[in-house]
Amino acid sequence: QAEDLSKSCVIYDAELSEKILDQIVLESDMHKALSNEEFYLVYQPQVNSKTGKVFAVEALIRWEHPTRGLISPAEFIPMVEKSGLIISIGEWVMNTACRQLKTWHEQGCLDLAVSVNLSTRQFYQENLVETVESILRKYDVPGYFLKLEITESMAMVNLEHSIRVLHNLKKLGIQIAIDDFGTGYCSLSYLKDLPFDLIKIDRSFIQNLDAANHSDLTILSMARFLHMRVIAEGVETLGQVELLNEKECYHIQGYLFSQPLKPQDVIGKIQQIEQQ
Ligand code: C2E
Ligand code: CA
Ligand code: CA
Ligand code: CA
Repeated sequence: QAEDLSKSCVIYDAELSEKILDQIVLESDMHKALSNEEFYLVYQPQVNSKTGKVFAVEALIRWEHPTRGLISPAEFIPMVEKSGLIISIGEWVMNTACRQLKTWHEQGCLDLAVSVNLSTRQFYQENLVETVESILRKYDVPGYFLKLEITESMAMVNLEHSIRVLHNLKKLGIQIAIDDFGTGYCSLSYLKDLPFDLIKIDRSFIQNLDAANHSDLTILSMARFLHMRVIAEGVETLGQVELLNEKECYHIQGYLFSQPLKPQDVIGKIQQIEQQ
């Protein structure tokens, strides 16, 4: 028995060290990835199901690794978050998204906004507000067209900081969204102190909607109580849209309308959605 145990430990260790090695290799690759232009952004439309119009797109990062192929942000963002490289990548995302938005505006999509995800480090970076302001100025994009997404747990790390920074971002006209709403702390007492404009209801709530269970949408009452607009994330079926509309939630993002798209495919998709 002892022998068995030691064998399994060896196997376990080998797997573990392989995983760690993998991670180290990936991390060192990441430092080259920015300059090698291996990152790109895809954009997922957000649709008003009442008017049929696309009012914004969310920018989502992708990493095309030279040998491993496409790596999901769920895998590498936590890694860059630890390495501090997230600051440069975050700035690259913001620059790229704003430059792209400017192009779409010039091509006639005059009302389109872009939503950008912030990481924790980025949110707690000292000169975040100045950085965002200078990027907006550089591409001549009014703050009103930029939305920033942060999670509840990010805001909770330091409430005082969050209140101050969010107020300063809002002075630039930027709209602030709570991402993955309902998965974190979800405490009304602090949420009312934070100047959020929008709530993104997490996909896990939307998925449950098909299960003939409307009670999950009590989360919508909470949003209303806080006077925030609501976007439903991860909407995949018409049934979900109908249930959401019944509860007067009309802002929809998810595969039902569109997958995240390469920038060159966005305008065509918007036209297609709006003609439906
Ligand atoms: P998120 O911000 O919650 O983004 C939504 C995720 O759900 C995206 O995954 C999107 O592709 C996916 N999604 C959208 N609609 C549907 C649907 O109908 N069904 C399903 N099953 N999934 C849907 P993605 O692009 O893999 O991104 C994963 C996470 O990585 C994001 O979650 C976000 O937390 C992070 N992330 C992505 N891009 C960035 C970025 O530029 N900066 C930072 N800091 N984080 C990012
Ligand atoms: Ca998001
Ligand atoms: Ca989300
Ligand atoms: Ca998420």
